[in-house]
Formats: sequence, C-alpha cells, structure tokens
Amino acid sequence: MPTEFGTYPFELPPLPFAYDALEPYIDEETMRYHYDGHFATYIRKLNTALEPYAFLQNMSLEELLCAGSTLPEDAYEDILKNAGGVYNHALFFSILAPASESVHEPDGKLLEAIEGFYGSFEHFKETFSKSAADVFGSGWTVLVSDSIGNLDIRNVANQDVLLCEGLEPVILFDIWEHAYYLKYKNDRVQFIDNLWNVIRFK
Ligand code: MN
Repeated sequence: MPTEFGTYPFELPPLPFAYDALEPYIDEETMRYHYDGHFATYIRKLNTALEPYAFLQNMSLEELLCAGSTLPEDAYEDILKNAGGVYNHALFFSILAPASESVHEPDGKLLEAIEGFYGSFEHFKETFSKSAADVFGSGWTVLVSDSIGNLDIRNVANQDVLLCEGLEPVILFDIWEHAYYLKYKNDRVQFIDNLWNVIRFK
C-alpha cells in the first residue's frame, strides 16, 4: 500500500471525513487529538529534522525510512522515528472509513489470500486482534504481505516499520494509548474489537 506522500516539506493531508464520522467506535475528541495533534506533530518534527539537509529533501518517506547510513548520524534517530510516525499514521488514517460505508471486509485476491493463510476472515480477525491485545507498550499490529503475496501478522514497537524488510502493510492498528485512552481507558480489547467496524480494506 504505497503512501504517495510526496517529499519535503511534508504536509498534513485533509482528513477525508468529519472528525465525528467514526463515532461511536472512535470518538471525535480522540480523532482531533490523534490527527491534528499526534499525526501533525510527526509531520512537523520530520520537516524540522530534514530542514538542514538539502540532499534528503527530495527523498520520499519510503526512501528516508530505508536510507540507513546515508542519513546524517546526528539526525538519524530523529528522522527515522518521525518518518516512521508519518508513514504509520498516513497508512492508518487512509484505511479508516465510516461504519456506514460498505468497505469493511476484503474481497477478491486479498480475501482469497486471507482465507488461504488463516482459514477464514473471522479466524484472521481473531488472530490479528489477539496479536494487537498482546502489544507491550506503544506500537502497532500490522498485516503484511511479502513480494510473493505471503501474509503475516506482526507487532512493531514505537514507530518502527517493516518496509525495509520487503514487507508491505495491508492493514495496521494503532495500539499506542493515544489512539484509544480518552474513550476506552485501559480497555484495549474493546477498542480493538470496535476498530474493525471502521477499517477499510482496499
Ligand atoms: Mn497514533
């Protein structure tokens, strides 16, 4: 799932639906803090980190994330963690859709692949949800596909990405507390169950 997010200076894209469009599964207040607060801050901090380095300013997010030792040593960590935050959040917000839209189950080749690897879509959801419930600390649960279409469910910490291992994210759940704590407090499992209602499969 390419992000097509352009290059420096990165910009916050408009949210393609109203902040309250995912109620009651994701509440308006969480959406506002998450999108205009957290996501926008990753974008701003990434731009700040890239500002002194003209030679990095024509690179895409994906190129920055996999640039390794090309990155300046004193900006390495700042660039990677903020580019990861932008990449993960760009994907996450792009796979959300109001529950009223009929896009919440995969079809075609993706459904076939999910059924091939997990037996059924329901069993895939159970396996993915269990993995998400087991994330320790802040991180993400990601359904990834390799270059020949093998699927896997992986947890990553913080703003890590699996892109540079050749793994393309298909869907991902944000399991940082900022994604759910305002509404769900410590009931992460309920958040995960409810999130399925607003996930868009492409
Ligand atoms: Mn987040």
